Amino acid sequence: MSTPVEGTENNPLLKEFYFPPFDSIKPDHVRSGIRALLKQLECELEELERTVEPTWPKLVEPLERIVDRLAVVWGAISHLKSVKDDPELRSAIEEVQPEKVAFKLKLGQSNVIYNAFKAIKESSDWDTLSGAQKRIVELQIKDAALKGIALEDEKREQFNNIEQTTLCRHSLIKVLCHTHHSDDFFARMTGIIREELGTTRREFTTEVVALREDIGVLRWDITTEVVALRDEIGVLRRDLGELHTEVAALRGDVAGFRGSVRGSVGETGVPRDWWATAAGIDELFYSVPELGRKGVEVGMAGAEDAGEGRDDRRGSGRDKGAGGRDRGAGGGDQGEMKDDDVVFVSEGATKVPKGKKRANDVPELMVGKRSKLRSQYIIFPYTVEAKRRGFVDETFPNLFRESTRSDRRRSMIGSNPLSPISSSTATRMATPVEGTESNPLLKEFYFPPFDSIKPDHVRPGIRALLQQLECELEELERTVEPTWPKLVEPLERIVDRLAVVWGAISHLKSVKDDPELRSAIEEVQPEKVAFKLKLGQSNVIYNAFKAIKESSDWDTLSGAQKRIVELQIKDAALKGIALEDEKREQFNNIEQELAKLSKKFEENVLDATKKFEKLITHKKDVEGLPATALGLAAQTAVSKGHENATAENGPWMITLDAPSFMAVMQHAKNRTLRDRASSGDLDNTAIIDQILKLRLEKAKLLGYNNYAEVSMATKMATIEKAEELLEKLRSASWNPAVQDMEDLRYFSKSQGVPEADNLSHWDISFWSERLRESKYEINEEELRPYFSFPKVMDGLFSLANKLFGINIEPADGLAPVWNSDVQFYRVNDFSGSPIAFFYFDPYSRPSEKRGGAWMNEVVGRSRVLSQDGSSARLPVAHMVCNQMPPVGDKPSLMTFREVETIFHEFGHALQHMLTKQDEGLVAGIRNVEWDAVELPSQFMENWCYHRDTLMSIGKHYETGESIPDDVYKKLLAARTFRAGSLSLRQIRFATLDLELHTKYVPGGSETIYDFDRRVSKRTQILPPLPEDKFLCGFSHIFAGGYAAGYYSYKWAEVLSADAFSAFEDAGLDDDKAVKETGHRFRETVLALGGGKAPLEVFVEFRGREPSPEPLLRHNGLLQVAASQ
Ligand SMILES: [Zn+2]
Repeated sequence: MSTPVEGTENNPLLKEFYFPPFDSIKPDHVRSGIRALLKQLECELEELERTVEPTWPKLVEPLERIVDRLAVVWGAISHLKSVKDDPELRSAIEEVQPEKVAFKLKLGQSNVIYNAFKAIKESSDWDTLSGAQKRIVELQIKDAALKGIALEDEKREQFNNIEQTTLCRHSLIKVLCHTHHSDDFFARMTGIIREELGTTRREFTTEVVALREDIGVLRWDITTEVVALRDEIGVLRRDLGELHTEVAALRGDVAGFRGSVRGSVGETGVPRDWWATAAGIDELFYSVPELGRKGVEVGMAGAEDAGEGRDDRRGSGRDKGAGGRDRGAGGGDQGEMKDDDVVFVSEGATKVPKGKKRANDVPELMVGKRSKLRSQYIIFPYTVEAKRRGFVDETFPNLFRESTRSDRRRSMIGSNPLSPISSSTATRMATPVEGTESNPLLKEFYFPPFDSIKPDHVRPGIRALLQQLECELEELERTVEPTWPKLVEPLERIVDRLAVVWGAISHLKSVKDDPELRSAIEEVQPEKVAFKLKLGQSNVIYNAFKAIKESSDWDTLSGAQKRIVELQIKDAALKGIALEDEKREQFNNIEQELAKLSKKFEENVLDATKKFEKLITHKKDVEGLPATALGLAAQTAVSKGHENATAENGPWMITLDAPSFMAVMQHAKNRTLRDRASSGDLDNTAIIDQILKLRLEKAKLLGYNNYAEVSMATKMATIEKAEELLEKLRSASWNPAVQDMEDLRYFSKSQGVPEADNLSHWDISFWSERLRESKYEINEEELRPYFSFPKVMDGLFSLANKLFGINIEPADGLAPVWNSDVQFYRVNDFSGSPIAFFYFDPYSRPSEKRGGAWMNEVVGRSRVLSQDGSSARLPVAHMVCNQMPPVGDKPSLMTFREVETIFHEFGHALQHMLTKQDEGLVAGIRNVEWDAVELPSQFMENWCYHRDTLMSIGKHYETGESIPDDVYKKLLAARTFRAGSLSLRQIRFATLDLELHTKYVPGGSETIYDFDRRVSKRTQILPPLPEDKFLCGFSHIFAGGYAAGYYSYKWAEVLSADAFSAFEDAGLDDDKAVKETGHRFRETVLALGGGKAPLEVFVEFRGREPSPEPLLRHNGLLQVAASQ
């Protein structure tokens, strides 16, 4: 062992021995040795109680092992006390004695064991036992019965009272008989003792009992205290890392609204024009002159902007087509890995609950909001992928399951490691651990028992699971060796088991919402977080990984295995684990300080957003606003005390919440209103300075030159490559963006408005929206009949067949589901053997299911967690969407956006399911770099624009007629609408982000605003307003996980566009070439998962490094490319 559990490694009491090491046991060994031993035995006892069966090998043998081990060790030290007395030894033994006694009491009073002995006696095996064995069983039962264990509660209490009294008398007699000889003396002593000691002794005994109780209580208190402290630590940590959730939530309200809501339009009845699209969003920041001054509104806009990208992309709502928001230009929310979460937001962001920090489970948070606030809230899809943002402790432990029990048993008591613990074990237990015997969360499963998990199972189930995993982790730390089977495999088992069970309940919370379930999950979440922290910060494990790397075995490891080791080491190093004491403390302080600052930053943004409100009383001032926006504004007015406000007659209250603000910016004909829509007074400048300063310090502590290097350490890109890419895109986008501005001027002039020659920041959104309407307006509702859900799925599956040679067939009934609408599929390879499974939950169920669309793992591919002992466990995924359910004979009809969304999520699912990587820790989407993980999903979206594919799925559900040609052309054209402007905007943010994290010198000659101006010169067509302080609201990088990572929006787009261009190069109409390219894609991008560096994977597929050209071409920026 490289670094064994402190203080126990050399303890002779903990070593295996036959002849006790009497010569080497020292008083110092007693406390730590006995305590470690008792802890271990407690684990074994728990294991025994959990797995007990009324058979010899499953009951008596493990029991004997426990009893014997304690007896031998304790016997050794007791013996030494008798024959080699020593004050230190005695006091050590006295100190641990109560703990030993407590353990023996626990052991002796185990109902589970008692019942199991009774069950043996009544079982059919009884007659096969030897005479000695029978006697053991009977003695056990008799012994327990004599201890009153068989008595019922009341009688048992009575019994215990009698015992106490008896104990007294017994002691007295014993004293008398042994110490005195003559009758006279005896009588005299009896008298004295009776008189003087009798009562006292009785009291004393009572006292001892009471003290024991006290000790018990104290111990309990201490334990509770420890748990509470751990919770607190957990909370603090979450402040530190998981703050992002909060950010995400904010972003959700403020920003995600646009794309998202569009998705929900069909369900909520909100007219689509309300949610106008992305046109002009790029200038949103500048739309309001006061924005910059106070920083806040801008903050809001910043969040919105950034948050938007990816939501859009698969967002349930964003109409990319109509909005002209080109994926390329729009950027994607890189952070999210695989889904679109939905937030429920009121007309006021003020109502979004603050202080929620569950970064490791952002989606859950969203759900939490929803139910509390549902009645007044509107659905926003919004993207989160906390895990991918690298700020959570989940970067590594994200997977795997299957109990370590068998392993543990093997190492402890030598039984067959391969024998699985059957789930029936638990049910056969006579009197199992309370509340857990029938808990589905604690049973072994491959397909989670989604139909039988109830809210009541969560608390006891998760707690028992965590306890078990704690034991396993201790075992791992105790027995670890720098080898694959002694380190990575047990670790994978722990990590996987937690991920699978937690994943199952989280999933249920998302699709089968229930207040009880939610509160149960919220209650145990801190405990889970605490455990994961412990796991993630284990020095023992870290050192073992380092030792593997230095061992002679290193060369025998596969590439994927090496990568696992290296990722583990890097990950731990980035958490400061490798630092020495003093530096580590410094590191932790910085982390805490940064967490506080980010939180403060975000609070300022939110407070300032909340502060702004504007009451409008004249109807002509709201001219142009859609009815829904007016309704919302009136509702807000009512909530602020204007009781009689109506949508029709006002008054109307405008706020900075995205729905309200954006509606004004895009639709308000009154230019002054657009101009005014802001105010605020909280300045984040000092906070930003401090954040940048601390990040730089942190980077230096970790041995990097700047914070961008820290960020890039776990990404596919490098600083140089990201900068190079941004510059290429920038120069290609400049002229088109200039042209976009010209188009707007021309268009607004044609509409006869006076400001046409002098368009300002706050006019851009409005006029882009009008222009978009006039050029590319597509009525999504009219398109729905062309996208019937069954046909879309057929088309998607046959595309997957064509590209990757897989067959997807319904397998309903094979696995338990949470709702009868849920479909279950098996994925077969060309030979017909199954390679994966997935659930698909397609329809909206507003009462219990959150909106949006997402994909996630259920279980991952893994050799270690093989189901049959030889072949790897097959991956299982789930996909969730929110389509309109079918009505009567009418199938579910989808918008084009929703079609794109399904393709997107299916792309993620494919990478998870088609992986060929058997090392569980890097199979499928696991440990794929943050900036590379959107490749397959965005890649799949491209097929929605491929004419043949689209036409094959887009057939009118009644007439069978294909999508009209002009509609298809509009869909294509809308992809490139204002692409240059949108692209430049993303590039500005990305460049600024990188510059600040590479070149900014805290306290140096240049301020953060100098940086901003410098970047803006090259990325903004309209010069920023002098008072623009957009940085003060750039939550993505100062309060989110995007620090030195904003570039990844564009990075991922480049990858996916370039991947698709491989098919274009091969010839989209050439089936054979498409198949070949698809095969190559499957064997590289989809198969290798996180087992290989993403750049190598890409090169293996594409034959070269990624090129931005295809993205520029798809965005319509290539032909006009030129530099500024
Ligand atoms: Zn995605």
